[in-house]
Amino acid sequence: SVEVRDLRVSFGTSEVLRGVDLRVERGQTACVIGPSGSGKSTLLRCVNRLQEPDSGDVLLAGESVIATDPDALRQRVGMVFQHFNLFPHRTVLDNITLPLRKVRKLARDRAEETARTWLAEVGLADKAPYRPAQLSGGQQQRVAIARALAMDPEVMLFDEVTSALDPELVKGVLGLMAELGERGMTMLVVTHEMGFARQVSDTVAFMDRGRVVEAGPPEQVFEQPESPRLRTFLSQVL
Ligand code: ATP
Ligand code: MG
Repeated sequence: SVEVRDLRVSFGTSEVLRGVDLRVERGQTACVIGPSGSGKSTLLRCVNRLQEPDSGDVLLAGESVIATDPDALRQRVGMVFQHFNLFPHRTVLDNITLPLRKVRKLARDRAEETARTWLAEVGLADKAPYRPAQLSGGQQQRVAIARALAMDPEVMLFDEVTSALDPELVKGVLGLMAELGERGMTMLVVTHEMGFARQVSDTVAFMDRGRVVEAGPPEQVFEQPESPRLRTFLSQVL
């Protein structure tokens, strides 16, 4: 499980997270929705300590991330971003094997075997020798997901992974994420894809101005929103 407890982050005088609480049970998917600037990315970044909170904590399977070595933490928490962050001058295969060898200390042939397994899982077995620029955005994003999954994480974080994709490529990436959720991965997903949030989440959390204003099962959040701010937000995005 992932348990976010009273998380607070400020940049200068601006308080970006103002006491965020959120819980994702093991094997479940939580989607975070909300307007631009509400703190969604900052929240995700606190989970794997790309951002240090001013106060509060995140518990991963009951263990404080603050008390966990960041490198060890990032092996347990996979993250995929809007921009794929692949190494441009390396092949697709190398992009996946490099972290396996450097971080997980796998031997080259073991790393390659693992990488090829995950490339096949995301439907890109034939792309191993290509460079990222030779792939479509959707394919690059699937490589980024395969790279994160190859590390065998307990939790996956996704931050707007389909926002930079052409519309026709979005479905393949969302489909892959939905499948991961069905297979029992614990996922925390920041998304503007309301259809995905509604169909795939166990919990939807609506953030506004640094707080989770409302959270609950998708039927409740989308069909019986309580707070005026969530109602306004939904009327703008649906
Ligand atoms: P979007 O939907 O546009 O991605 P978001 O909900 O992910 O927005 P965040 O990226 O978490 O929002 O940013 C929340 C606020 O914190 C914004 O006002 C942003 O400008 C500010 N912010 C984020 N990172 C930093 C930083 N490193 N330094 C200063 N301000 C920051
Ligand atoms: Mg963001």
